[in-house]
Amino acid sequence: MLDKAPNGKVSGLLNALDKALSAGEVEHAVDLFQTDCYWRDLVTFTWNIKTMEGKEQVRDMLKARLADTKPSNWKIADGEDASEADGIIESWIQFETEVARGFGHIRLKDGRIWTLLTTMSELKGHEEPVGFDRPMGAKHGAERNRKTWKEDREAEAAELGYSRQPYCVIVGGGQGGIALAARLRQLNVPTIIVEKNERPGDSWRKRYKSLCLHDPVWYDHLPYLPFPRNWPVFSPKDKIGDWLEMYAKVMELNYWGSTECKKASYDDKSREWTVIVERHGKEVVLKPKQLVLATGMSAKPNMPKFEGMDIFKGDQHHSSHHPGPDKYKNKKVVVIGSNNSAHDICAALWEAGADVTMVQRSTTHVVKSDSLMELGLAALYSEQAVQSGMTTAKADLIFASLPYKILHEFQIPVYNAIRERDADYYKRLEKAGFLLDYGDDDSGLFMKYLRRGSGYYIDVGASELIANGSIKLKSGVDVKKLTEHFVILSDGTELPADLVVYATGYGSMNGWAADLISREVADNVGKVWGLGSNTTKDPGPWEGEQRNMWKPTQQDGLWFHGGNLHQSRHYSQFLSLQLKARMEGIPTPVYGLQKVHHLS
Ligand SMILES: Cc1cc2nc3c(=O)[nH]c(=O)nc-3n(C[C@H](O)[C@H](O)[C@H](O)COP(=O)(O)OP(=O)(O)OC[C@H]3O[C@@H](n4cnc5c(N)ncnc54)[C@H](O)[C@@H]3O)c2cc1C
Repeated sequence: MLDKAPNGKVSGLLNALDKALSAGEVEHAVDLFQTDCYWRDLVTFTWNIKTMEGKEQVRDMLKARLADTKPSNWKIADGEDASEADGIIESWIQFETEVARGFGHIRLKDGRIWTLLTTMSELKGHEEPVGFDRPMGAKHGAERNRKTWKEDREAEAAELGYSRQPYCVIVGGGQGGIALAARLRQLNVPTIIVEKNERPGDSWRKRYKSLCLHDPVWYDHLPYLPFPRNWPVFSPKDKIGDWLEMYAKVMELNYWGSTECKKASYDDKSREWTVIVERHGKEVVLKPKQLVLATGMSAKPNMPKFEGMDIFKGDQHHSSHHPGPDKYKNKKVVVIGSNNSAHDICAALWEAGADVTMVQRSTTHVVKSDSLMELGLAALYSEQAVQSGMTTAKADLIFASLPYKILHEFQIPVYNAIRERDADYYKRLEKAGFLLDYGDDDSGLFMKYLRRGSGYYIDVGASELIANGSIKLKSGVDVKKLTEHFVILSDGTELPADLVVYATGYGSMNGWAADLISREVADNVGKVWGLGSNTTKDPGPWEGEQRNMWKPTQQDGLWFHGGNLHQSRHYSQFLSLQLKARMEGIPTPVYGLQKVHHLS
């Protein structure tokens, strides 16, 4: 039988919180928190994405934001029960602010709040048209010269961006831009996506031939329209491309394919952007109030510069331009790099009969896909999780409820268990000379992703080829130079090569701001991505949230959106609500706007 006692404890605490906050008694509210507490707010109190760490930060935030926010009606979420395990009581919660409805999650330790997550679900008076409020579609009755849905859509497509300006322009029509635009469409925010590729999904289609998503289907759903239950666990890239194309169409997005954003500038007086785009070869000037760069964190190739690249006689390209292995049968290939792309490309080349050598400069975190699925993701994103009643929305919120400051503490045991389970496998890889790491603090893949967005391989088969020598490996070395037919390594090794693939990763999204707007704006905004964890490629100081992602930046009207499919789905909700509120003139005073510590 369900133990209802935790309900009483959570309700008691929420009542006390409600009372203290309604009365403006900040100290009473702060007293309800543990000393080592975390309050993560996604837009409800702070109009920002912000984690308050410790009572002092909670106090400061409440002092600044309580009067405006006017929170009320804190309770256990409708239809939910609190639960207790290992001394922690947790529950889904709901509440309201003056302008919004919120949903969240709470964990109590020793009767006080340990973690609190508050997220904005909807703006009052601007709810999405769902359920009882869904559109009629048909217009019953009789009316002369009535327009059909198709005619209305065509009229909108013809006028938006020409005789009528969009409120928001999203540069980049990958999954990030598409998910955000879908939400903005539901919120009635006129939006155009500008995408230089021809069709939605092309950013996936154009990647190397063998690519399948590394994340499983349960993690990858887009907003509103989940994949069907027979969708493969790991989507092949062209299939996900087709899904995105279908999605953009049925979600009625204003998607300008074959359109490149050339330049954007902001006028502080009119608080408006001038965005110059080239659409099918013709210049169009757009004047949105908000500009979102959804140009991809894996879209700005990091191309190394080695002596001799200009005289090398074979083929050479960045991994993002690798066409696939077909023309390299019996050819000698050198792949520079040892992360996901490098492994996938090496394996596909080996399958096609090429003689492949991987050059590994520094350590890489490798985790078997099966182990990651079972030990890392299964509790939230798996068929078992679905069977036990876990929804995508809840999984996303549970994940969001774990404060970044302590997330690594939850991750370390997972990766310790994986290391134990796969000990022989790791031994064999090391024996082959592969340089392994498990993250600076052994916290594994996901922390590496959040901190630096690189440095790992989710093993779907290539590691075995390295362990058994099918893919040759040169590790702990760098490229010294190229000659006409060789890659010369820092230890003097000369590798003959018909093809060199530079699987050397991608640059920061800040670079897009520099390219499209100006160096000055890019520097004002600073580095994009990372937490300030003071680990490799994520310099401190600690920031507590991902730099510049999905939240206000130091540049008025400029936003960054993207990340993996999970992040695009989850955070597009909060970015879309921030944009909608601004369009509706709802005051959005930002608390704790991020300071800039690093430029790129
Ligand atoms: C090899 C590889 C494997 C990956 N595997 C996974 C995975 O399994 N799961 C996952 O979730 N993610 C994976 N990723 C990460 C992946 O890059 C992102 O999840 C996804 O592509 C990000 O989507 P996005 O919309 O943010 O960016 P992108 O898909 O990169 O889209 C950005 C778009 O911006 C466009 N653009 C850029 N500049 C301009 C301009 N000036 N004007 C107009 N358009 C412009 C580009 O053409 C591009 O289409 C992988 C990435 C790589 C490289």
